[in-house]
Amino acid sequence: MIKKSTIMIYITISLLVLVSINSLMVLMLAKMITKDAEIINLTGVIRGSIQRIAKLELINNNSDYVIMNVDQIIDDFHTGKISMGSKGDSFHQSLTGIFKEWSDFKDYIHTYRSNPNFVNQKTFLYKSEQLWLITNSAVFNAQKMSEKRISYFNYIIFFFLLNIVLIMAILMFIRKYVINRLEYSVNHDFLTGVYNRSFCYEYLLKEINKSQRLGDTFSLVMLDIDHFKRVNDQYGHDVGDLILQELSQVISVNIRKSDIFARIGGEEFALILPNNSLDNALTFAEKLRETIARNIFSKVGHLTISLGVTELKNDDTIDTIYKRADLALYKAKQNGRNKVEFER
Ligand code: GH3
Ligand code: MG
Ligand code: MG
Repeated sequence: MIKKSTIMIYITISLLVLVSINSLMVLMLAKMITKDAEIINLTGVIRGSIQRIAKLELINNNSDYVIMNVDQIIDDFHTGKISMGSKGDSFHQSLTGIFKEWSDFKDYIHTYRSNPNFVNQKTFLYKSEQLWLITNSAVFNAQKMSEKRISYFNYIIFFFLLNIVLIMAILMFIRKYVINRLEYSVNHDFLTGVYNRSFCYEYLLKEINKSQRLGDTFSLVMLDIDHFKRVNDQYGHDVGDLILQELSQVISVNIRKSDIFARIGGEEFALILPNNSLDNALTFAEKLRETIARNIFSKVGHLTISLGVTELKNDDTIDTIYKRADLALYKAKQNGRNKVEFER
């Protein structure tokens, strides 16, 4: 099974790749939009120049420098030095129109200059109007294409922001996950997964304070596997570890949610039973002893445990209650093991 952390790392990497692609697209689009503005501007220059040329020619002023300027722009469009969109789109269609009409228009200028009669003037002005209309539609088409690009830009910015939000959420999730894992490993025994000694002490201290303050009670049970050394000697340390895990599992499913079960040493465990008097705790301990004695453990078969039980006293400290439970366990061992003993 793939671990949760590995999945989260993959998701984060994928999102980072997406953000990078997005950023690249934003940059490319920004560049294109800037170029679009330049093209709209140049097409506008052609449009304005046509009016100027017509005006200058009518008052007999030379418009050659304006013509040269338009020639340059048109040449740049023609050679593809400046370009927009793709062949066949509306902007290119208007460009092709401009190329053709512009060279015709220049011919009409020369005809008018050499013979400025009424008919030539009328045709020249009519041509200038036609060219103006085509150029005007080119400006309009270029603007339309640019607006379309700007709307893509909005989508990309939206996805970019969405990605950033997702990455932030994943990072926060990972942070929480790491904190949870750390907390877990601080409080739990790495072999069996049950609470560890330091958590048990902390909890015991809190439980003593709380119970003494509120007038409640609780019982403490210490238990130890009988002749566990023999398991290690006979079957090896790995089997010993497996037995510790199995025993923890069996006990965990036989206690209440409110009970605290911890491994406090090699094959020694403690159980804190909140709101349990000594009598209750003894009944529970006896049942647990029987359950373990009946259980069939992997490789080794039957095993027994010895248990020592005690209940909280008014003037108890963590040391005194712990020592009493330990003493009861010692008595159980002394009395032949596979026994429950208590200390008042
Ligand atoms: P008793 O009935 O008196 O408790 O006898 P015992 O053999 O269980 O007790 P003893 O204290 O002599 O031996 C405990 C053994 O537990 C010795 C040690 O190697 C083993 N042990 C402690 N921690 C671990 C562990 O994490 N894994 C394994 N496999 N064995 C462990
Ligand atoms: Mg033992
Ligand atoms: Mg022991």
